[in-house]
Parts: sequence; structure tokens; C-alpha cells
Amino acid sequence: MVLWCIYITIALLHTVNHLALPVTFWKSYSIYPGAVDAMVQWWYGHNAVAFFLTTPYLGLMYYFLPKAANRPIFSYRLSIIHFWALIFIYIWAGPHHLLYNAIPDWAQTLGVTFSLMLIAPSWGGMLNGLLTLRGAWDKVRKDPILKMMVVAITCYGLSTLEGPLMALKNVNASVWMNGRKQIEAFGEMLFTHFGLSGPIILTLSRFIVKELINNNKICVSIDLKPALDYSKLDKRLLRDLKKYGKKQIDNIFKLWLPAKLIPVFIKKCGIDPTKEGHQITGQERNKIRSLMKDLRFKVTGHRSFKEAIITAGGITTKEIDPKTMQSNLVRNLYSAGEIINVDANTGGYNLQIAYSTAWLAGEACVK
Ligand SMILES: Cc1cc2nc3c(=O)[nH]c(=O)nc-3n(C[C@H](O)[C@H](O)[C@H](O)COP(=O)(O)OP(=O)(O)OC[C@H]3O[C@@H](n4cnc5c(N)ncnc54)[C@H](O)[C@@H]3O)c2cc1C
Repeated sequence: MVLWCIYITIALLHTVNHLALPVTFWKSYSIYPGAVDAMVQWWYGHNAVAFFLTTPYLGLMYYFLPKAANRPIFSYRLSIIHFWALIFIYIWAGPHHLLYNAIPDWAQTLGVTFSLMLIAPSWGGMLNGLLTLRGAWDKVRKDPILKMMVVAITCYGLSTLEGPLMALKNVNASVWMNGRKQIEAFGEMLFTHFGLSGPIILTLSRFIVKELINNNKICVSIDLKPALDYSKLDKRLLRDLKKYGKKQIDNIFKLWLPAKLIPVFIKKCGIDPTKEGHQITGQERNKIRSLMKDLRFKVTGHRSFKEAIITAGGITTKEIDPKTMQSNLVRNLYSAGEIINVDANTGGYNLQIAYSTAWLAGEACVK
């Protein structure tokens, strides 16, 4: 019965994923456009991982582990819940392969949410396997097959924790101009030797560079803990400072921030780095909390044109026929990509512009 369900699901996935319109005997185009196609492909791709590469091996584990250990499965009920929960949740986690891409934000959030939910059934399965060995650990010491199985189950547990955590988007950066918040972006960023960078900074730079040219004063505020509001963050800081009260504050910071950011942060907070957790005053904790939620940088400049990833400006779209890309001013002159005055956020849109305009221009040229 279970096998039949898997066969039907796989058949469905294959069919929906490969829906295409043939143009010649050997060539066909997907019926889905751009970003929709990407979502459908990953719906399939992710489920191929789930149904071909995960559940059959869990089936093998449930069969061979009790046999090798000569013990009954720890919980039959857990195995059923784990199996069906895995199948149900896996289906919706696919968009986590398309984060910061041209797919809608709600679809990305759906992928991240379901990826985190996946931890529960995955770990349910891992624990069910390891707990099956209760009372048989002496056999594990001697039996190489059981040893391999324990390593495999543990690795399964670790990788199913790593995957969902990698799907997390974790900072929020907002741009302030002349004291007013203008735009914000949520995702990954980088601190580099020349300043701020990374996907969300690139997105925001589209706005920032233009306003810097207009001589406006720009600040970027980074919320390093967007998932926690002020009171939840305060509770977390209090809990850690109490629990690790005997540790030096620069060590406690490792729980909260990436290593390279810690000295900068401690300096900005004006805290003596040799202080222990229990010596941190309420005022200092407030300072830490405020900086974590609002770490501000004044934008003094941007990288040079040579290093530009997306360039604005170019031939105005008013001078181009959008159906053929032919110039309205010069006959037989066609334009495509960056040379046209169109630009977009990072995440695939600019390449899409280049591909689509080049396709139109190419088709029109040969007609
Ligand atoms: C580091 C980096 C990362 C990027 N990441 C993304 C991303 O993630 N998503 C996204 O959508 N966009 C991204 N972009 C932008 C994207 O690559 C460009 O928008 C896109 O490639 C523009 O395509 P194009 O064909 O118009 O120009 P180009 O790809 O620049 O092609 C122009 C070509 O013309 C050639 N050429 C120039 N002058 C002459 C000449 N006189 N004679 C003959 N040949 C000439 C050049 O050598 C070049 O091969 C990125 C760009 C960079 C630099």
C-alpha cells in the first residue's frame, strides 16, 4: 500500500514537472514561464530527494536495524507518524532552494517555514532508530554492521538539522535617508574589508547609490536578531548572562554573534571585555540589545563602476520597440541587456532581462 502511494506520487511529480509544448520532434518548451518553472522544477527536485533518496533508506533502516540488533523497533507508532509527516512536510520545502531569487517572497517564506518543521519528523526517525538500540549497545561495540548503521543514522540526523538551518534568512537591513526610513531588505549580508556587502546590501545599493549621487545623507541600520523583538531578545540576553555568569563577556558574545563582529560590538557598546557575565549592568545589557536591533553605519561611498554588478542607465526604453528591440531612431539597430536603461534587484531579474531582450532582438534580426 505504502509502495503504491509512493509510485503514484512519483508518477504525479514526473508528469506535472515535465508538462511541455513540443515545437519540433526533438524540441519542446516547458509550459511554465520563468520563475513558475523554477518553482515547479524544485517542487519535483525536492520531492525526488524525499521519495527516491530518503524514505526508501529509512524503510531499509526500519527493516535491517531491528534485525541486526535483534530488538523490536523502539516505537512503531512513531515510525508511522514520522513517515507520513516527512512526506507531507517535504513537499512544501522545495522553495528553500530558490531563496533570494525571482520567486515571490511568500513562497520563499513557505519554504523556510516547512524546512524548519522538517526537523521534527527527521529527528523523530533518527531517535526511533537510535532508541531501537537501547539495551543492545554492547552489540554495537562488536558488530561492524551495527556500527555503520549508528554512524549513518547519526549523519542523517545531523544533515537533516543542517539543511533546515541553512534555509534560514537572518538579518534585516533598513536604509535611512535624512533621518527617515526609506526601504528595507531581509536576508543575508556580509561584512567585508571595504564595508557592507552581500545579497541584501546589493539590493539596497540600487537605491543608496542613486541617493548618494543626489548628495543625500544615508545610513544603513542592521537588525541582527530580526526573529526576536526587544523583550524576547532581552529575556535571551538575561538567560545567557545568568547561565554563563562566570564566563568573560567576550566569550558569551560567541553565543550571539559571528566571531569577527564581537570585538567591534564590544567596542561600540563600551563594555570592558574582561568583565564576567554576572558583572554586566542593566544599562550595558540595554546597550547590547539596542545595538543588536539597530547597528548603524553611515554610508560614505560605494564601489567603483569597474566592480559594478548591475549598472543603471543606457539607451532609453522610449527609443526601442519592445516587441523587436529595434531602435525607433536607427533602422536595423537592435539592443539587448545592460545597454538598455533597465535594471532590477539582484536575484536573477537582470539576467532575465538580458536573456529576454536578447531573444527578442535575435528573433527579430533573422526575420
Ligand atoms: C559579479 C556579478 C554578479 C552578478 N550576479 C547576478 C545575479 O545573481 N543575477 C542577475 O540577474 N544578474 C547578475 N549580474 C548582472 C548580470 O550578469 C548582467 O545584468 C548581465 O550579464 C548583462 O548581460 P549583457 O549580455 O547585457 O552584458 P554582458 O554579460 O556584460 O555581455 C557583454 C559582452 O560584450 C562584450 N563586449 C564588450 N565590448 C565589446 C566590443 N567592443 N566588441 C565585442 N564584444 C564586446 C563583453 O566582453 C561581454 O562578453 C551579475 C553581474 C556581476 C558582474
